[in-house]
Amino acid sequence: DRIVSSELRFEDMDVDGSLRPKSFKEYIGQEKVKEKLSIFIQAAKNRGESLDHVLLYGPPGLGKTTLASIIANEMGAGLRITSGPAIERAGDLAAILTNLGENDVLFIDEIHRLNRSVEEVLYPAMEDYALDIIIGKGPSARSIRIDLPKFTLIGATTKAGMLTSPLRDRFGVILRLELYNVKELAYIVKRSAGILNVKIDEEGALEIARRSRGTPRIANRLLKRVRDYAEVKANGVIDHEVASRALDLLEVDKLGLDNIDRKMLLAIINKFGGGPVGLDTLAYSIGEENETIEDVYEPYLLQIGFINRTPRGRIATRTAYEHMGIPHPAE
Ligand code: ADP
Repeated sequence: DRIVSSELRFEDMDVDGSLRPKSFKEYIGQEKVKEKLSIFIQAAKNRGESLDHVLLYGPPGLGKTTLASIIANEMGAGLRITSGPAIERAGDLAAILTNLGENDVLFIDEIHRLNRSVEEVLYPAMEDYALDIIIGKGPSARSIRIDLPKFTLIGATTKAGMLTSPLRDRFGVILRLELYNVKELAYIVKRSAGILNVKIDEEGALEIARRSRGTPRIANRLLKRVRDYAEVKANGVIDHEVASRALDLLEVDKLGLDNIDRKMLLAIINKFGGGPVGLDTLAYSIGEENETIEDVYEPYLLQIGFINRTPRGRIATRTAYEHMGIPHPAE
């Protein structure tokens, strides 16, 4: 149970709701994504049309759901949120689609996990705003077409490559969300602290930001925990000292790494001589799923330059050795 997991946890639910930016102005960072979306939204509104379907990809907790709700707001449209695994049968999706209003936004999280029969309903829905329904069985079966309102599908996934190509091809706009830098995260922490009525100074916000792995969801979660610490162990104000002590106690190190990251780095360094080690072998050796390593742990370790990906596998960099306090073999 990782405090620095980027995936949605039960404890995030309330913060995620109240801290969620409602407009592009409140949505910090991701400048290119915002700029492109603003233009497409403006153009669609000028033409009086629905926005083209949008695919957002990137690690969890970077603001994909938030963007979907901002897009719906900007379009002045309704928003329906669901996820790939939640839509079990074709009929479930048909029910959702027929209940949408004109120009509404349908957000499907983990869209790569839709099953085949559901995905097939989505093709004509995305392309022609229509549902093809088969009535009857055997030789007397016939297909009828039902018109749907013009809607915008926003799909979210951790990797664009996980989508089947017929599905991916039906998105007019494909955007990748990047991990946030420390300055942006500090800004998010201060904004959230304001909403939660927590007193925090610049250095306190920066310390939380540095340990948030480039991820707003983690920043907000750490802020909540540091607030608890500040209220019980200090005078309620979060400064550098309080933030550092609280995060040390939570075993989140200066760069936001926890025991699992350290275990993975130690495995590469000690068991595989610093690498290269293949993903399968590495995953097996630390008892994790390949996908979890690729989608959840690795993006941040790559961003801070602790590992490199080569065609032959993962390598621990000199910086990683230094951070772990282990001499690099080249020395
Ligand atoms: P995802 O759908 O990518 O997993 P969410 O949209 O649920 O991520 O974002 C997680 C939380 O992080 C949100 O509730 C919001 O409070 C915060 N957040 C995400 N992106 C931003 C941003 N750009 N600016 C401010 N807060 C953000």
